[in-house]
Amino acid sequence: MLPLTSTRLLGRGKTLLPVPFKRIGVNMSSPPGSDRRLRVLVDMDGVLADFEGGFLKKYRARYPEEPFVTLDDRRGFWVSTQYGRLRSDLCEKAISIWESKDFFLDLEPLPGGVEAVKEMARMDETDVFICTSPIKHYKHCPSEKYAWVEKHLGHDFLEQVILTRDKTLITGDILIDDKPDIQGVEPKPAWEHILFTACHNKHLSISPSQRRLLSWSDDWRAILDSKRQ
Ligand SMILES: [Mg+2]
Repeated sequence: MLPLTSTRLLGRGKTLLPVPFKRIGVNMSSPPGSDRRLRVLVDMDGVLADFEGGFLKKYRARYPEEPFVTLDDRRGFWVSTQYGRLRSDLCEKAISIWESKDFFLDLEPLPGGVEAVKEMARMDETDVFICTSPIKHYKHCPSEKYAWVEKHLGHDFLEQVILTRDKTLITGDILIDDKPDIQGVEPKPAWEHILFTACHNKHLSISPSQRRLLSWSDDWRAILDSKRQ
């Protein structure tokens, strides 16, 4: 049993977490570089939570008479931009959907995502974090993102949530994210961006050096292994 002061120095959640988070704790006795754990950052919307499907369902329920874009016809990362091209006032109508209460909480998990993240968390020498950007209309989104993680991954996983508008500031080995261009103040982020395939990006040709994860049925374990030293 560590003295209380040591527990505090190790930080919140570093010593007292139950399985499967027992491996999160840093081995303080190892010299630098000898305890090289793999750090995986996993985006939420479009990777773990079905933002696109949830949006279309609620948009059609609220605006049944308005035109819409099928998931097959989705192009470009920003839903509101494509709806605005369809008809200018539809941009605001689209935004009104994800600014509504319960939008983020009600999103269905994408197939296999929750199971994959739980498996990562149980892997040796691996730390997994949910790295997600809340919308600026903050009344519901940030708290609902936490609630979603608690609902689908469990209370202990709240320790692994990173909310940031700039993912380039976060260090990690891999960022699994459906946004094709992830930019911020850091020009050379520490992570390799693995593009998670989504309806809006599946037609994009990406550079030969960039890797995709086609779905959670794809070999995400091989991608993780490729980054281990
Ligand atoms: Mg996303």
